Amino acid sequence: MDIYRRLMKEMEGEIRRDEPMSAHTWLGVGGPADLFVSPRDRDELARGVAILAEEGIPFLVIGNGSNVVVRDKGIRGAVLTLTRALNTFAIDGRIIRAGAGMGLSRLIDSSLDHSLRGLEFAAGIPGTVGGAVKVNAGSHGGEIGGSIRSVDLMDASGETFARRAEDLGFSYRTSLISRDWIILEAEIELEEGDGEEGRRRIAELLGERRRTQPTGRSAGCIFRNPKGAAAGMLIDRAGLKGLRVGGARVSERHANFILTEPGASADDVIDLITQVREQVERRSGVELELEVEIVGQD
Ligand SMILES: Cc1cc2nc3c(=O)[nH]c(=O)nc-3n(C[C@H](O)[C@H](O)[C@H](O)COP(=O)(O)OP(=O)(O)OC[C@H]3O[C@@H](n4cnc5c(N)ncnc54)[C@H](O)[C@@H]3O)c2cc1C
Repeated sequence: MDIYRRLMKEMEGEIRRDEPMSAHTWLGVGGPADLFVSPRDRDELARGVAILAEEGIPFLVIGNGSNVVVRDKGIRGAVLTLTRALNTFAIDGRIIRAGAGMGLSRLIDSSLDHSLRGLEFAAGIPGTVGGAVKVNAGSHGGEIGGSIRSVDLMDASGETFARRAEDLGFSYRTSLISRDWIILEAEIELEEGDGEEGRRRIAELLGERRRTQPTGRSAGCIFRNPKGAAAGMLIDRAGLKGLRVGGARVSERHANFILTEPGASADDVIDLITQVREQVERRSGVELELEVEIVGQD
């Protein structure tokens, strides 16, 4: 029996073949994933992961696809999406347990409903809890890792385990969470406070985003800020605002954003990234490092 039929037989969640990843990424580019698996719940996720391991099929977990560029040749193996299986929220005093598939905006909103503050910095980051924890998403001086107490994880055989935050090595836009681990749930500790004040702060932060960042299809900042400098400023100084490859271009409003138009390809985005890197290095001697992740078949 082929893997698709086996998953269909043994799981009730959604299983698709040759699913275009352009439909699951913020940039709107990316070729097909061989398999696209949305388990119904946590048990089914474990079963699905065990089946993939038995069949020797690699997997990639995707959140909202807001920090990834999927190559045009797509993804060999399976893409797992957890927005359905792990969309849970539980609260006990100042401690929240949030499922990896939950959207950050809903997490922030629900926290404020319970007069818990500390996540406002993340307003406007269009990721899931899982994606934010993996990359230690942050903004305005805050990082999600700073509020995490522990994370429940699953390994590539379907076994679950927990790690305390101090063992996860959260630092600037990165963590030590292995590529083979699936983030299931995060335990988050927040401060008691005035929810309405939190919402006012969010309105300010979103206003600032609107003033400084472009609207349109992007993956947020493409490059990490090098020590003591802003990647956007280096790109701007190299005169690269508006630089275009096919349907991808460097934003005029914020040079660290690449925007895509309908019909753009991942190759357009990746070629543009390469050109920006080369020209910034030539101009300022700085080698920019990627903040977004390029995934899929080379
Ligand atoms: C307009 C815009 C603004 C942005 N602003 C910011 C910002 O201010 N600060 C910031 O930090 N980022 C920002 N981003 C980038 C992005 O939104 C964040 O990095 C976000 O946390 C990614 O979450 P995601 O669910 O989309 O993850 P994805 O892009 O789907 O995945 C990111 C990584 O996490 C892994 N992953 C996802 N879920 C899991 C899981 N459950 N288990 C294991 N691994 C997992 C993926 O395999 C991948 O390696 C912005 C993006 C956009 C489009």
